[in-house]
Amino acid sequence: MVSFKSAYLQGVYDKVVARNPGESEFLQAVEEVLLSLEPVVAQRPDLVKAGIIDRMVEPERFIQFRVSWVDDAGNVQVNRGFRVQFNSAIGPYKGGLRFHPSVCASVIKFLGFEQCFKNALTTLPMGGGKGGSDFDPKGKSDNEIMRFCQSFMTELYRHIGPDTDVPAGDMGVGAREIGFLFGQYKRLRNEFTGVLTGKAIGSGGSLARTQATGYGLLYFTQEMLSKLKGDSVQGKTVIVSGSGNVAIYAVEKAQELGAKVVAMYDSNGYVYDPNGIQLDVVKQIKEVERGRISEYAKRVPGSEYHEGCKGIWKIKCDIALPCATQNEIDAEAAQALVDNGVMAVAEGANMPSTPEAIEIFQKNGVLFGPAKAANAGGVAVSGLEMSQNSMRYSWTFEEVDSKLHDIMVNIFHSAEQAADQFGMKGNLVAGANIAGFLKIAEAMKWQGVAY
Ligand code: NDP
Repeated sequence: MVSFKSAYLQGVYDKVVARNPGESEFLQAVEEVLLSLEPVVAQRPDLVKAGIIDRMVEPERFIQFRVSWVDDAGNVQVNRGFRVQFNSAIGPYKGGLRFHPSVCASVIKFLGFEQCFKNALTTLPMGGGKGGSDFDPKGKSDNEIMRFCQSFMTELYRHIGPDTDVPAGDMGVGAREIGFLFGQYKRLRNEFTGVLTGKAIGSGGSLARTQATGYGLLYFTQEMLSKLKGDSVQGKTVIVSGSGNVAIYAVEKAQELGAKVVAMYDSNGYVYDPNGIQLDVVKQIKEVERGRISEYAKRVPGSEYHEGCKGIWKIKCDIALPCATQNEIDAEAAQALVDNGVMAVAEGANMPSTPEAIEIFQKNGVLFGPAKAANAGGVAVSGLEMSQNSMRYSWTFEEVDSKLHDIMVNIFHSAEQAADQFGMKGNLVAGANIAGFLKIAEAMKWQGVAY
C-alpha cells in the first residue's frame, strides 16, 4: 500500500481506494499522479483549498449500458458498454473507445483519468473522457461488427455531441468501426457533425490521424534523446511491442528516422527479424488480412516467431517502445531491458509499464517518456480534426504532420520544465503529470466549485 508524505494526498488516495474497490488499473493510475503532486501540494495551498484534487479523481459522469446485438447465426449477444466523462474543465470530453474483452469499469476509468492530463498537455481545448465495451472484434464478420457498433451508438448518441463529448478509436476500434458508429449517429441525430474523430478522409477525417500516435511517439522520443543525451534515433536498434495502429506507425517513423526495428508482437507471440522488420509485410498481414503476426515469419526468410510475448523484452535494443497494452512491461522485463543496455523507453500504449518497471528505468538512468506525454499525438491530431470540422476546411498531410511535430516537441519541453520547476529534474513522469494537472486545475479553480 502506497504512503504519501502529504496527509492531504493520503486522505484523497484512501477515499479513492474506498470508493473504487478492486479497480486496480484505476488505482494504479491515480497513485502515480498523486505521487507526482507532492511538491505541488506543498507550494499551492490555494488548489488544496479549492478541492481540485478531490474533484479530479472523481469522474463528472460514468455511464454504463447494455449493448445487445444479433450475431450471424441469429443468436442474441449481450455486451456491456461504457463511457466515462471525466473532466470538462478545459473543453468537451475527448478520448477513444476501446473494444476488447478486458474492458471493465476500472480500465475505462484509468484510461479516462489519464486522458485528462494528456489532453491538457497538447494545449488544445479538450477535456478527458474514454469509453468502450467488453466486445471482442476478433473473429467477427464485418456485418457483426456493424450490428454491434450500431447497437452501441444507439445508446451512446444521447450522451455525446461535437461540443459535449467527442469519442475516437482505441484498441479494437479503427477506421471500420468509426465508420459504422458515425453512420449510426448521423442516422439517429440527422446531422453531419464532427462528433467522432478518426473519420475517413471523405467524411470529415483528418489527414495524418492514422499515423499520428506512432509518428508523435517518435517525434517525442527524438526530442528526448536530443535534449537529454545529445543523441538521436538514427542508427538505433528498436523493439516495438504490439502490431496494431500505434505500433505500425511507430515502426514506420522509426525507420524513416534511420532506426532498425527488430521485433514486434501481437497477443499470441512475437517476431524477431535481425535484418529489420519489413513493414509492408506487417501492414499486409495486420491492416489488410487482419491476420496473426506469426504469419510474418512464414513470409520473411531469416525472421523467427516465438509463441508468448514476454521474450521480446530480452532482445537487446537501444530503444524500447511499448505500443500494445497496459502493464506489458513488468519489473522482470524492465530489468532485462536495463541489463541489455537500453537507453530510452517511450510509451506508445497507455500505462504499459508497471510502477516497479518505471522505478527500475529511472534508477538506472534510462530516459523514460511516459504515455501521457509520449502518446499524446493521436489525440492531438484528433483535436486538429475537430478544428478542421469546425472550420469546414482541411489541411494537407504536411500541414497536420508539422503541427503534430510541434505539439510533441512542446509537450516534451512542458514536462521537462515542470519537473525542473518542482524539484524533480529529468523526471518526465512527474513533469507530465504536473504540467497537465496545473492547466486543468487553474481552469477548475476559475470556474468555481459547481461549474
Ligand atoms: P490496436 O487494437 O490497433 O492494436 C493493439 C495491439 O496490441 C495488437 O497488436 C494487439 O494484439 C496487442 N495486444 C492487445 N492486448 C495485448 C496483450 N494483452 N498482450 C500482448 N499484446 C496485446 O490498438 P492501438 O494500436 O490503437 O492501441 C494500442 C495502445 O495504444 C493502447 O494502449 C491504446 O490505449 C494506446 N493508444 C492508442 C491511440 C490511438 O490513436 N490508437 C492513442 C493513444 C494511445 P492482438 O491483435 O492479438 O489483440
